[in-house]
Amino acid sequence: MASAQRPCDPRIVLVTGSTTGIGRAVAMRLAITGRTVIAHGRDLDRTTKAAAEMAALTGGHVEAAHGDVSDPAAVSAMAREIHQRHGRLDGLVVNAGIHAAGLLGMTRGDTVRDLFEVNAMGATHTLQATVRLLRRGTSPSAVLVSSIAGRQGAPGQAVYSATKAAILGLAKAAAKELGPAGIRVNAVAPGYIQTGMLATLDDDARAATVAATPLGRLGTADDVAAVTAFLLSSDACFITGQVIGVDGGLVL
Ligand code: NAD
Repeated sequence: MASAQRPCDPRIVLVTGSTTGIGRAVAMRLAITGRTVIAHGRDLDRTTKAAAEMAALTGGHVEAAHGDVSDPAAVSAMAREIHQRHGRLDGLVVNAGIHAAGLLGMTRGDTVRDLFEVNAMGATHTLQATVRLLRRGTSPSAVLVSSIAGRQGAPGQAVYSATKAAILGLAKAAAKELGPAGIRVNAVAPGYIQTGMLATLDDDARAATVAATPLGRLGTADDVAAVTAFLLSSDACFITGQVIGVDGGLVL
Protein backbone atom coordinates (compact mmCIF):
# COMPACT_ATOMS: atom_id res chain seq x y z
CA MET A 1 0.00 0.00 0.00
CA ALA A 2 1.44 3.41 -0.98
CA SER A 3 2.48 5.71 1.86
CA ALA A 4 1.38 9.35 1.96
CA GLN A 5 3.52 9.92 5.02
CA ARG A 6 5.95 12.84 5.37
CA PRO A 7 9.01 12.94 7.65
CA CYS A 8 7.30 14.97 10.39
CA ASP A 9 4.08 12.96 10.42
CA PRO A 10 3.66 10.70 13.43
CA ARG A 11 4.98 7.24 12.77
CA ILE A 12 3.95 5.30 15.88
CA VAL A 13 0.41 5.97 17.04
CA LEU A 14 -1.68 4.43 19.82
CA VAL A 15 -5.46 4.52 19.32
CA THR A 16 -7.46 3.45 22.36
CA GLY A 17 -10.77 1.66 21.89
CA SER A 18 -9.94 0.84 18.29
CA THR A 19 -11.49 -2.58 17.77
CA THR A 20 -14.77 -0.90 16.75
CA GLY A 21 -16.38 2.34 15.56
CA ILE A 22 -14.50 5.62 15.41
CA GLY A 23 -11.29 4.19 16.88
CA ARG A 24 -11.18 1.46 14.27
CA ALA A 25 -11.73 3.99 11.47
CA VAL A 26 -8.87 6.12 12.85
CA ALA A 27 -6.58 3.09 13.10
CA MET A 28 -7.41 1.98 9.54
CA ARG A 29 -6.85 5.46 8.12
CA LEU A 30 -3.48 5.77 9.85
CA ALA A 31 -2.41 2.26 8.85
CA ILE A 32 -3.27 2.89 5.18
CA THR A 33 -0.95 5.91 5.18
CA GLY A 34 2.01 3.98 6.54
CA ARG A 35 1.95 4.58 10.28
CA THR A 36 2.68 1.89 12.80
CA VAL A 37 -0.64 1.69 14.57
CA ILE A 38 -1.05 0.27 18.05
CA ALA A 39 -4.67 -0.80 18.17
CA HIS A 40 -6.07 -1.05 21.66
CA GLY A 41 -8.99 -2.81 23.30
CA ARG A 42 -9.96 -4.20 26.67
CA ASP A 43 -9.43 -7.84 25.77
CA LEU A 44 -6.13 -9.21 24.39
CA ASP A 45 -7.55 -11.95 22.13
CA ARG A 46 -10.19 -9.72 20.61
CA THR A 47 -7.72 -6.89 20.06
CA THR A 48 -5.09 -9.17 18.53
CA LYS A 49 -7.71 -10.49 16.11
CA ALA A 50 -8.92 -6.98 15.22
CA ALA A 51 -5.33 -5.76 14.71
CA ALA A 52 -4.61 -8.68 12.34
CA GLU A 53 -7.82 -7.92 10.41
CA MET A 54 -6.91 -4.25 10.07
CA ALA A 55 -3.39 -5.11 8.96
CA ALA A 56 -4.79 -7.44 6.29
CA LEU A 57 -7.33 -4.89 5.08
CA THR A 58 -4.90 -1.96 4.92
CA GLY A 59 -1.61 -3.67 4.12
CA GLY A 60 -0.22 -1.64 7.02
CA HIS A 61 1.46 -2.43 10.31
CA VAL A 62 -1.09 -2.81 13.10
CA GLU A 63 -0.10 -4.14 16.52
CA ALA A 64 -2.29 -4.92 19.50
CA ALA A 65 -2.19 -3.53 23.03
CA HIS A 66 -4.80 -4.12 25.67
CA GLY A 67 -6.12 -3.00 29.03
CA ASP A 68 -9.19 -1.55 30.67
CA VAL A 69 -8.67 2.23 30.59
CA SER A 70 -10.56 2.64 33.86
CA ASP A 71 -7.83 0.63 35.60
CA PRO A 72 -4.73 2.81 36.10
CA ALA A 73 -2.51 -0.25 36.65
CA ALA A 74 -3.63 -1.78 33.33
CA VAL A 75 -3.00 1.50 31.50
CA SER A 76 0.48 1.81 33.06
CA ALA A 77 1.27 -1.78 32.06
CA MET A 78 0.21 -1.01 28.48
CA ALA A 79 2.46 2.09 28.43
CA ARG A 80 5.38 0.03 29.76
CA GLU A 81 4.86 -2.54 27.03
CA ILE A 82 4.84 0.16 24.35
CA HIS A 83 8.03 1.57 25.88
CA GLN A 84 9.67 -1.85 25.61
CA ARG A 85 8.52 -2.32 22.02
CA HIS A 86 9.17 1.16 20.60
CA GLY A 87 10.64 3.45 23.29
CA ARG A 88 8.31 6.25 22.22
CA LEU A 89 4.95 7.35 20.82
CA ASP A 90 4.51 10.01 18.14
CA GLY A 91 0.73 10.07 18.28
CA LEU A 92 -2.00 9.22 20.76
CA VAL A 93 -5.74 9.05 20.18
CA VAL A 94 -7.72 8.85 23.41
CA ASN A 95 -10.93 7.41 22.06
CA ALA A 96 -12.13 4.58 24.35
CA GLY A 97 -15.44 5.50 25.88
CA ILE A 98 -18.89 4.37 26.89
CA HIS A 99 -22.29 5.98 26.65
CA ALA A 100 -25.33 5.81 28.90
CA ALA A 101 -28.43 7.96 28.79
CA GLY A 102 -30.87 8.65 31.60
CA LEU A 103 -32.57 11.51 33.38
CA LEU A 104 -30.45 12.90 36.20
CA GLY A 105 -32.76 11.71 38.97
CA MET A 106 -33.03 8.25 37.41
CA THR A 107 -29.34 7.55 36.80
CA ARG A 108 -27.97 4.94 39.15
CA GLY A 109 -24.79 5.50 41.12
CA ASP A 110 -22.97 2.65 39.42
CA THR A 111 -23.77 4.14 36.00
CA VAL A 112 -22.41 7.51 37.14
CA ARG A 113 -19.28 5.80 38.43
CA ASP A 114 -18.76 3.73 35.25
CA LEU A 115 -19.15 6.77 32.99
CA PHE A 116 -16.62 8.80 34.96
CA GLU A 117 -14.22 5.91 35.44
CA VAL A 118 -14.06 5.03 31.74
CA ASN A 119 -14.57 8.37 29.98
CA ALA A 120 -13.02 10.99 32.27
CA MET A 121 -10.62 9.04 34.46
CA GLY A 122 -9.75 6.60 31.66
CA ALA A 123 -8.76 9.48 29.37
CA THR A 124 -6.73 11.01 32.19
CA HIS A 125 -4.94 7.74 33.02
CA THR A 126 -4.14 7.22 29.35
CA LEU A 127 -2.65 10.67 28.83
CA GLN A 128 -0.73 10.52 32.12
CA ALA A 129 0.70 7.07 31.39
CA THR A 130 1.81 7.92 27.86
CA VAL A 131 3.14 11.44 28.29
CA ARG A 132 6.69 10.17 28.84
CA LEU A 133 6.46 8.21 25.60
CA LEU A 134 5.16 11.29 23.77
CA ARG A 135 8.07 13.35 25.14
CA ARG A 136 10.38 10.96 23.27
CA GLY A 137 8.27 11.08 20.09
CA THR A 138 8.79 12.84 16.77
CA SER A 139 6.43 15.88 16.37
CA PRO A 140 4.25 14.33 19.08
CA SER A 141 0.59 15.07 19.49
CA ALA A 142 -2.54 13.73 21.09
CA VAL A 143 -6.18 13.89 20.05
CA LEU A 144 -8.83 13.34 22.71
CA VAL A 145 -12.31 12.27 21.61
CA SER A 146 -14.95 14.34 23.39
CA SER A 147 -18.50 14.84 22.11
CA ILE A 148 -21.06 17.40 21.09
CA ALA A 149 -22.56 16.53 24.51
CA GLY A 150 -19.38 17.74 26.21
CA ARG A 151 -19.54 21.07 24.39
CA GLN A 152 -23.17 21.98 24.89
CA GLY A 153 -24.79 19.31 27.09
CA ALA A 154 -27.70 17.11 26.08
CA PRO A 155 -30.92 16.50 27.99
CA GLY A 156 -31.08 12.95 29.31
CA GLN A 157 -27.30 12.70 29.00
CA ALA A 158 -26.11 14.92 31.85
CA VAL A 159 -23.58 12.48 33.27
CA TYR A 160 -22.19 11.46 29.88
CA SER A 161 -21.99 15.18 28.99
CA ALA A 162 -20.07 15.90 32.20
CA THR A 163 -17.52 13.19 31.43
CA LYS A 164 -17.04 14.50 27.91
CA ALA A 165 -16.71 18.09 29.17
CA ALA A 166 -13.96 16.82 31.49
CA ILE A 167 -12.08 15.65 28.41
CA LEU A 168 -12.19 19.17 26.98
CA GLY A 169 -10.68 20.60 30.17
CA LEU A 170 -8.02 17.91 30.11
CA ALA A 171 -7.13 18.62 26.47
CA LYS A 172 -6.89 22.38 26.95
CA ALA A 173 -4.84 22.23 30.16
CA ALA A 174 -2.56 19.56 28.72
CA ALA A 175 -2.04 21.69 25.60
CA LYS A 176 -0.83 24.54 27.81
CA GLU A 177 1.32 22.30 29.99
CA LEU A 178 2.87 20.19 27.23
CA GLY A 179 3.17 22.83 24.49
CA PRO A 180 6.59 23.98 25.73
CA ALA A 181 7.76 20.35 25.36
CA GLY A 182 6.57 20.40 21.74
CA ILE A 183 3.56 18.16 22.38
CA ARG A 184 0.29 19.28 20.82
CA VAL A 185 -3.03 18.26 22.38
CA ASN A 186 -6.38 18.78 20.66
CA ALA A 187 -9.89 17.42 20.96
CA VAL A 188 -12.52 16.36 18.47
CA ALA A 189 -16.17 16.67 19.38
CA PRO A 190 -18.20 14.31 17.20
CA GLY A 191 -21.91 14.88 16.73
CA TYR A 192 -24.16 11.90 15.99
CA ILE A 193 -21.94 9.28 14.38
CA GLN A 194 -23.20 5.95 13.03
CA THR A 195 -21.43 3.42 15.22
CA GLY A 196 -22.61 0.79 17.69
CA MET A 197 -22.88 3.57 20.26
CA LEU A 198 -25.76 5.11 18.32
CA ALA A 199 -27.74 1.84 18.20
CA THR A 200 -30.14 3.00 20.91
CA LEU A 201 -31.25 6.03 18.88
CA ASP A 202 -34.76 5.19 17.64
CA ASP A 203 -36.04 6.07 14.16
CA ASP A 204 -37.86 9.22 15.30
CA ALA A 205 -34.83 10.55 17.19
CA ARG A 206 -32.63 9.70 14.21
CA ALA A 207 -34.94 11.61 11.82
CA ALA A 208 -35.09 14.60 14.21
CA THR A 209 -31.30 14.67 14.46
CA VAL A 210 -30.87 14.60 10.71
CA ALA A 211 -33.47 17.37 10.34
CA ALA A 212 -31.62 19.54 12.88
CA THR A 213 -28.23 19.01 11.20
CA PRO A 214 -27.35 21.67 8.60
CA LEU A 215 -25.51 19.10 6.49
CA GLY A 216 -28.59 16.86 6.63
CA ARG A 217 -27.13 13.51 7.64
CA LEU A 218 -25.60 11.56 10.49
CA GLY A 219 -21.83 11.36 10.60
CA THR A 220 -19.66 8.37 9.79
CA ALA A 221 -16.73 7.05 11.77
CA ASP A 222 -14.51 8.03 8.86
CA ASP A 223 -15.69 11.66 9.08
CA VAL A 224 -14.15 11.73 12.56
CA ALA A 225 -11.11 9.70 11.54
CA ALA A 226 -10.24 12.20 8.78
CA VAL A 227 -10.18 15.15 11.19
CA THR A 228 -8.29 13.15 13.81
CA ALA A 229 -5.63 12.17 11.26
CA PHE A 230 -5.32 15.82 10.21
CA LEU A 231 -4.84 16.97 13.83
CA LEU A 232 -2.12 14.35 14.31
CA SER A 233 -0.36 15.32 11.08
CA SER A 234 2.28 17.94 10.45
CA ASP A 235 -0.36 19.97 8.55
CA ALA A 236 -1.72 20.81 12.02
CA CYS A 237 1.70 21.63 13.51
CA PHE A 238 0.59 25.07 14.81
CA ILE A 239 -2.75 23.89 16.22
CA THR A 240 -3.04 22.98 19.86
CA GLY A 241 -5.67 23.24 22.60
CA GLN A 242 -8.50 23.33 20.05
CA VAL A 243 -11.84 21.56 19.98
CA ILE A 244 -12.90 20.64 16.46
CA GLY A 245 -16.57 19.79 16.05
CA VAL A 246 -17.29 16.97 13.59
CA ASP A 247 -21.06 17.31 13.72
CA GLY A 248 -22.42 18.48 10.36
CA GLY A 249 -23.04 21.93 11.84
CA LEU A 250 -25.15 20.93 14.85
CA VAL A 251 -23.10 23.22 17.11
CA LEU A 252 -23.01 26.70 15.61
P1 NAD B 1 -17.84 2.21 20.12
O1 NAD B 1 -18.64 1.65 21.23
O2 NAD B 1 -17.77 1.49 18.83
O3 NAD B 1 -16.34 2.50 20.58
C1 NAD B 1 -15.94 2.62 21.92
C2 NAD B 1 -14.68 1.78 22.10
O4 NAD B 1 -14.17 1.98 23.41
C3 NAD B 1 -14.99 0.28 21.95
O5 NAD B 1 -14.04 -0.32 21.11
C4 NAD B 1 -14.87 -0.25 23.37
O6 NAD B 1 -14.43 -1.59 23.45
C5 NAD B 1 -13.84 0.71 23.96
N1 NAD B 1 -13.95 0.77 25.41
C6 NAD B 1 -15.05 1.04 26.14
N2 NAD B 1 -14.77 0.97 27.45
C7 NAD B 1 -13.46 0.64 27.55
C8 NAD B 1 -12.59 0.41 28.63
N3 NAD B 1 -13.01 0.49 29.90
N4 NAD B 1 -11.30 0.09 28.37
C9 NAD B 1 -10.86 -0.01 27.09
N5 NAD B 1 -11.64 0.19 26.03
C10 NAD B 1 -12.93 0.51 26.25
O7 NAD B 1 -18.43 3.68 19.89
P2 NAD B 1 -17.82 4.92 19.10
O8 NAD B 1 -18.99 5.71 18.66
O9 NAD B 1 -16.82 4.51 18.11
O10 NAD B 1 -17.13 5.72 20.29
C11 NAD B 1 -15.78 6.16 20.25
C12 NAD B 1 -15.66 7.46 21.04
O11 NAD B 1 -16.40 8.47 20.38
C13 NAD B 1 -16.21 7.38 22.47
O12 NAD B 1 -15.32 8.05 23.35
C14 NAD B 1 -17.53 8.12 22.37
O13 NAD B 1 -17.91 8.69 23.60
C15 NAD B 1 -17.20 9.15 21.31
N6 NAD B 1 -18.36 9.71 20.64
C16 NAD B 1 -19.19 8.94 19.89
C17 NAD B 1 -20.29 9.52 19.26
C18 NAD B 1 -21.26 8.75 18.41
O14 NAD B 1 -22.29 9.31 18.02
N7 NAD B 1 -20.99 7.50 18.07
C19 NAD B 1 -20.53 10.91 19.41
C20 NAD B 1 -19.65 11.65 20.18
C21 NAD B 1 -18.56 11.05 20.78
